[in-house]
Amino acid sequence: MLEVVRIPVLNDNYVWLLHDDASGQTVVVDPAVAEPVLEAAAARGWTIDQIWNTHWHGDHVGGNAAIKAATGCIITGPAAEAGKIGTLDRTVGEGDHVRIGDHVATVMAVPAHTAGHVAYHLAGDHIIFIGDTLFAMGCGRLFEGTAAQMFANMARLAALPDDTIVYCAHEYTLSNGRFALGIEPDNVALAQRVAAVEAARARGEATVPTSIGQERATNIFMRATDVTQLAARRAAKDAA
Ligand code: ZN
Ligand code: FE
Repeated sequence: MLEVVRIPVLNDNYVWLLHDDASGQTVVVDPAVAEPVLEAAAARGWTIDQIWNTHWHGDHVGGNAAIKAATGCIITGPAAEAGKIGTLDRTVGEGDHVRIGDHVATVMAVPAHTAGHVAYHLAGDHIIFIGDTLFAMGCGRLFEGTAAQMFANMARLAALPDDTIVYCAHEYTLSNGRFALGIEPDNVALAQRVAAVEAARARGEATVPTSIGQERATNIFMRATDVTQLAARRAAKDAA
């Protein structure tokens, strides 16, 4: 069994610690910073063996060098962004595999937020680390890619099993949900989810991870019927 630990850092980032009991291996996904991540691992008696980066933004790779200095871990990230990240030991792209113990993650190229953005999909474990591509009731901003690319990403992600647990990198859920309700005011599942998220946030609770099934029901970007509609929704959210 894999264990996943959520580490809240900076304003709204989540760093994910992935641990495999059988092999004793530990992976960090998108360490924005080093210290809280090293502390979270040490508190559990875990040593960080690997870092997996989804994209080059500083709030996803900022802890790379210090974690490597402290642990000697191997850092994997997107080949297309190796020059921007600078600390990668191993580069990956679509269809490549990375491992934690006997558990295999398949790399998916999901460009749009950044040009080389990747996701790590552990199909056997029903887990995906998606970075800033898919959020709970939202999607990443289109900084380096197109709405057509994001639409294709959403279609690929929607095709994963509903029970796939989605580990995204930010707590943007409430803002996303309120915006989505304006687009789909008659979506009962969406209204119920937003109400639950309002309550959870009022209690100071995290609302991530999410699941593919929940997103298929409530994510207006995944539910967009064509590229034009996704583009219009993304532009409206950017301006909100
Ligand atoms: Zn980002
Ligand atoms: Fe980010």
